[in-house]
Amino acid sequence: MRQTAESNLRIGGLTPLTTIDYPGQLAAVLFCQGCSWRCHYCHNAHLQPMTSENIMQWDQVRAFLDRRRGLLDAVVFSGGEPTLQAGLADAMAQVRAMGFKVGLHTAGAYPKRLGRVLHVTDWVGLDIKGLPSDYPRITGVPGSGEAAWESLDRILAANVALEVRTTMVPELEASLPSLKTRLERVGVRHHRLQTVRA
Ligand code: SF4
Repeated sequence: MRQTAESNLRIGGLTPLTTIDYPGQLAAVLFCQGCSWRCHYCHNAHLQPMTSENIMQWDQVRAFLDRRRGLLDAVVFSGGEPTLQAGLADAMAQVRAMGFKVGLHTAGAYPKRLGRVLHVTDWVGLDIKGLPSDYPRITGVPGSGEAAWESLDRILAANVALEVRTTMVPELEASLPSLKTRLERVGVRHHRLQTVRA
């Protein structure tokens, strides 16, 4: 039997109702498995490997959302890094076709893949962890900052609603003013500082 791309979406968790993950919307959050970065403050480290149990098949997600029509405004794809998964665009398109808005939480690790899902995305919460030079000591990955800032450029160019989030860590204090200036200069209107979650 042929497996569809969306049936391969590996899901590590589901929050059935939240008011804080998509501004102004009642949303469910689907946590996608897999992330190639290793941020020392990651609060979803169990989702970094794409090997944990797939807690829901896609059909079960659809059945859950069917029962939530009229009760939920939106579905947020979070992670992990959702853009790592090839089935993301199809899954997002299906969710949108069911009448829900589609939100995306991403760290922008894969700018090209991100670019391929923006046409089915209504809102993005993008982690910008610092200036590009700050990234390797936060994510452990050389070049990660350039990828994240390229993702920011793509979202702004696509004119998708955007909130940029920055997690405050001690190594960011010195560069924070420069970071804010640069974000304003490229056209970011909504920038939120957040504390590390225990
Ligand atoms: S990018 Fe996000 S999911 Fe990946 S390690 Fe960093 S905080 Fe965790």
